[in-house]
Amino acid sequence: MKNKKAKTRKIMDEMSETKVSEHIQKSSIPNKTDEESSMAETDDMKKANKKMSRKKSRVSGKKEDKDQLLEAWSPRTDIGKKVKNQEIKELDYILDNGFSVLEPEIVDFLLPELEQDLISSGQVKGKFGGGARISFRRTQKKTQEGNKLKFSCMAVVGNKNGYVGLGFGKAKETVPARDKAFRKARLNIFKISRGCGSWKCNCKTPHSIPFAVEGKSGSVRIKLMPAPKGTGLVVEKECAKILGMAGIKDIWSHTEGQTKNKVNLIYACEKALKKLLSTKIKPQDIENLAIAEGKITGAEK
Ligand SMILES: [Zn+2]
Repeated sequence: MKNKKAKTRKIMDEMSETKVSEHIQKSSIPNKTDEESSMAETDDMKKANKKMSRKKSRVSGKKEDKDQLLEAWSPRTDIGKKVKNQEIKELDYILDNGFSVLEPEIVDFLLPELEQDLISSGQVKGKFGGGARISFRRTQKKTQEGNKLKFSCMAVVGNKNGYVGLGFGKAKETVPARDKAFRKARLNIFKISRGCGSWKCNCKTPHSIPFAVEGKSGSVRIKLMPAPKGTGLVVEKECAKILGMAGIKDIWSHTEGQTKNKVNLIYACEKALKKLLSTKIKPQDIENLAIAEGKITGAEK
């Protein structure tokens, strides 16, 4: 009996995994030849191949594609036109004056070293809380025709030097949801300030944050506190992704509430980070806590 159960469970898990991967496969690599797929392979081999090809397409085609897309980009907004003509050369000019970024290419153009990543906010089916974390959250709506699926996804972008953005995308399939999330993340980009407010460290280099900040969303509260050099990111895994993208190296944290709801946790983390810039600071503290806004050049690093 036990074996049977384990077997059926395995098959179910594989089904759900292949569904998701097929979705991605279909739109990212549309012209796969029939010969390749018709070849006799075991299921494991096929899976491995799929994974490899997906990874290759992501890594190899990216930079060239990006450059080509940016060259072909024809801006439609005023700010976009100014960026393309190189009248605006700094992202700070847009953020400080409160201009709205309506085209994601603006951020790509001004921050060429931008990196992106998905946050695992979803979970595959599993008994007794055993489901693995995945980046797509699957939700169902009951209708007369049956269950209607929707996929949602969270993404983070950043240059690991003072700028981060978070985005949430939702669609009927996985790939459009992912694209929406990346687009939203670029539009929502913001600047943070860094420093060293640790009572233990007092080193006057911007490796941590200058003071403790709190954020709240739903029932989740998160408190980020400055830590001494060499501590690392002592936070929940997904928050660590965001802080790493922002360029913070050392931090302590404390959370309350339903932190297994990753969407609320990420929003709380975003709100806390936004407080770093909006808090009013005394002029003498800027020197004492080594506060630096946005980008830090090589010498100060
Ligand atoms: Zn320090």
